[in-house]
Amino acid sequence: MKTRDDCLALDAADALAGLKDRFELPPGVIYLDGNSLGAKPRTAAARAAEVIGREWGNDLIRSWNTAGWFEAPSRLGDKLARLIGADEGEVVVTDTTSLNIFKVLAAALRIQQRDQPSRKVIVSERDNFPTDLYMIQGMIDFLEQGYELRLIDADLSLEDALDADAAVLLLSHVNYRSGAMHDMARVSGLAHERGALVIWDLAHAAGAVPLALTADGADFAVGCTYKYLNGGPGSPAFLWVAPRHMDHFWQPLSGWWGHSNPFEMSDRYDPALGIRRFLCGTQPIISLSLVECGLDLALEADMQDVRAKSLAMADLFIELVETRCADHPLTLVTPREHAGRGSHVSFLHPEGYAVMQALIARGVIGDYREPELLRFGLTPLYLSYADVWDAVEILRDVLDSRAWDKPEFRTRAAVT
Ligand SMILES: *Cc1c(COP(=O)(O)O)cnc(C)c1O
Repeated sequence: MKTRDDCLALDAADALAGLKDRFELPPGVIYLDGNSLGAKPRTAAARAAEVIGREWGNDLIRSWNTAGWFEAPSRLGDKLARLIGADEGEVVVTDTTSLNIFKVLAAALRIQQRDQPSRKVIVSERDNFPTDLYMIQGMIDFLEQGYELRLIDADLSLEDALDADAAVLLLSHVNYRSGAMHDMARVSGLAHERGALVIWDLAHAAGAVPLALTADGADFAVGCTYKYLNGGPGSPAFLWVAPRHMDHFWQPLSGWWGHSNPFEMSDRYDPALGIRRFLCGTQPIISLSLVECGLDLALEADMQDVRAKSLAMADLFIELVETRCADHPLTLVTPREHAGRGSHVSFLHPEGYAVMQALIARGVIGDYREPELLRFGLTPLYLSYADVWDAVEILRDVLDSRAWDKPEFRTRAAVT
C-alpha cells in the first residue's frame, strides 16, 4: 500500500521534476486536464508581449520577413516533427485539426481515386471524436461521388471493416474518452495490406506518447497543439504527410499561402512543392508564436522519460482510486495494459458530472465526457506523484462526504 511519502520519494527521483517550474499554474490547483487544454509555459507571456509589442507594434509589416512570421508554420512543423517520428519538411503547424482532417482526407481520397477508383468507403470508429466523423460526413456530402462512412464498433471489427471497398481509414491514435491507444504499426500495416490509406488523428497522442509515424507506416496525420503540447487555447493544429505522398496531389483548400510563389500574384494556382501546399491563408501569428513556447519545453524532455512517468503516474492513480475510493461506484474504462493506453485515465461514475464539478470546486481540475465519464489527464511535464496522491485524497473526500450532491454541481455549463 502506497503512502504520500512514497510519492514524495518518487518525485525526488524524477528526471522530469525540474520542468514543472517552467509552467505557471495557479496555487491550490491540481491540473488534470492537460489533455484538453495544456498549461501555460512561463515563457508564453513574454513571447506574446514581444510579438505584440516589438514585432507587430514597432516593426509592423516588416516582421513578415524580419521576425520569421512567414516561415513560422514550417519552422514550428520541423520542431514538432521530432516529437512524432517525422522529418524536417514533412509537417506544418496551421489551421485547426478539423480543417486539417478535411485537407488530408481529400488528399487521401484523391490518391485512391487515381489508383483504386472503385473503393468508396471511409472507415472510422463510432466512438471517434465527433469532429472526425462530422468532417468525414461533410466531405461525403460535398463530393457527391457515392462515398460512404463505415464505423467500427462492438458489431464490426477493424479487420471486417477493411474490405475491398475501403479507401481510407481515419482513426484517433488515443481515444478521447477511454484513453485506449491503437497499435499504429499493426493497424497501418493491416490497412495497407487491405489496400486502404490511413490517417491518424494524434490530438491525444502528440506530446503524450512516443510516436514513430514514418517507421510505423502512416500515410497522413493531424493533431492539436493546445493539448499535450501546451500551445495555448485554440492554438493552430498540425498536419503531416508521408514523403511518399508528398507532391503527388494538392489539397482542395488551395489558398494563396499554398502557392509556389504567393507574391507573384498569379491568376493561376500553382501549388508549392512540399508540405507548404497544405497551408491555406494568412496565419494567426500571435497564436502561432506561442506554440513555439510549448514545443521548446516538450523538446527539452526525453519522450521515453515522459512515457515512463505517464504510465507510472497512471498506474499510481488507478491503484489509489481503486483502493482508497473502493466503496464508491467507480469503474475504470481505460485499459490497464501499458501498450494499450495513452496518457489519461477515465472512470465511470453514475453521478460523473456532479462529482467532477465538486472536484473542480476543490481545485482538482479534470473534465467530464458523456456518458458518466470522469476524465483525468496525466501530464508528466507539470505533475508530480504527490499531486496524484493529493488529487485522489480530494476525490475520496468528495465521494465520502457526498459533497457532489448539491444542485449547483448539476447545472451544465456550455463547455464540460
Ligand atoms: C481535441 C480533438 C480535436 C479538436 O479539433 P479542433 O478542430 O481543434 O477543434 C480533434 N480530434 C480529436 C481526436 C480531438 O481529441
